[in-house]
Amino acid sequence: MLDSMVNRRIAEILRSGQPDESLIVQGWVRTKRELKDFTFIEVNDGSSLANLQVILDQDLPEYDKILKKLNTGASVEVAGVLVASVGKGQRVELKAEKVKVCGEADPETYPLQKKRHSFEFLRTIGHLRSRTNSFGAVFRVRNACANAIHQFFQERGFLWVQTPIITASDCEGAGELFSVTSLNLKDVPHTETQAVDYSKDFFGRPTYLTVSGQLEAEVMAMAFAQVYTFGPTFRAENSNTSRHLAEFWMVEPEMAFCNLQGNMDLAEAFLKHIFQYVMETCSEDLEFFNQRIDNTVLATAENIINNQFERITYTKAIALLEKADVKFEYPVSWGLDLQSEHERYLCEQLFHKPAIVTDYPAQIKAFYMRLNEDENTVRAMDILAPKIGEIIGGSQREERLEVLERRIIAQGLKTEDLWWYLDLRRYGTVPHAGFGLGFERLVQFMTGMGNIRDVIPFPRTPQNAEF
Ligand code: ATP
Ligand code: MN
Repeated sequence: MLDSMVNRRIAEILRSGQPDESLIVQGWVRTKRELKDFTFIEVNDGSSLANLQVILDQDLPEYDKILKKLNTGASVEVAGVLVASVGKGQRVELKAEKVKVCGEADPETYPLQKKRHSFEFLRTIGHLRSRTNSFGAVFRVRNACANAIHQFFQERGFLWVQTPIITASDCEGAGELFSVTSLNLKDVPHTETQAVDYSKDFFGRPTYLTVSGQLEAEVMAMAFAQVYTFGPTFRAENSNTSRHLAEFWMVEPEMAFCNLQGNMDLAEAFLKHIFQYVMETCSEDLEFFNQRIDNTVLATAENIINNQFERITYTKAIALLEKADVKFEYPVSWGLDLQSEHERYLCEQLFHKPAIVTDYPAQIKAFYMRLNEDENTVRAMDILAPKIGEIIGGSQREERLEVLERRIIAQGLKTEDLWWYLDLRRYGTVPHAGFGLGFERLVQFMTGMGNIRDVIPFPRTPQNAEF
């Protein structure tokens, strides 16, 4: 019935709608307030945190019938005229002339009633939770972050490359892989030695869901100099933490003719750009997080934008941790990987801002990181953020063929499996560097959301893939 008029998003109407304009809104009812001669409903269409207030006068045709259907959760189309609002809180409101209830929502069973629900509860209704204020704000900020990421790289001439989701290489050599197979699990073919006969599998070899697009990004960087990936990655890590998902999105820039210094500079400018962009485009949502979720959100954003990150070597960081007057659960000593508690101590207690830790011991880092002159440490860099710990992990890559071969063997991997990766060092090798940003960790950092399950629409974690 309402097709002939232009429909407009509520965010835009609240920003620039003028009294006397005729328009249509489409959305879902958040609340209904019945007064003697008229009724207010709040309509939300996901475009903003704020709802549009709609006034239904009792003279409206079929007023009583419509009112009965207009419960929280119902979908509506309203045609009407904007009027200046007399109430506080909004500039304009919509006086309804025609109301169409598209789909009702039974108030007896619709689970999202006006009261506040816990995030735990909302995870059990993953198909409806995006209709709440918190998740609306989270997913708008997530979208803005994605936009900022593309903008940052595109403005600098980086090529967005798509790396494979199914891969035969285990990039990190770290395990945590999901296997991909089309073999019938009830009747797996075996070789003479009773191993699984992967020659009968779809690809004729074992394959996995990718844990990182880095190696393939390096391939592309050796042709386009500056590239980035932005896609899903998978880790079958059975760690039930508030910072780990089994399926998460990663952003991985890779730059030829670049060293660790350039890598750190880019990563820092990158994070600053994203925060700046989200502050500008989602200020209302960030205010909401600051008020309702974590009252340091705005200060953190300002802090990121305005301060230089601390830069410190792993060796110095260990010395500082050894001197710390707190008792860590995991002991600190040179050669051990930093645990989340150590990472958080450094940026929360010592530096009060993000810190870039560089030059980690070679034996705890991946084979592709460039070996330092000391032969003991590698040109790695992790960016640690308050409350989150590691948000970015990167390195200058080993561009020297012999050193790389040595490192692959030392880590128990086979050079034959990485023949194409080694070819990049045989033909036109160049110093290069890159990093990986965990996209959900970024959104957590930005919003103050405590659990990573609440910053991705459909979280994948151990024992959970319902929605
Ligand atoms: P962590 O020590 O926190 O498990 P990692 O060393 O395994 O991280 P990398 O392999 O360097 O992480 O991955 C690059 C980035 O991806 C990390 O800096 C982090 O932001 C993100 N990340 C890693 N694992 C996960 C995960 N399971 N869920 C969400 N993000 C992740
Ligand atoms: Mn990990």
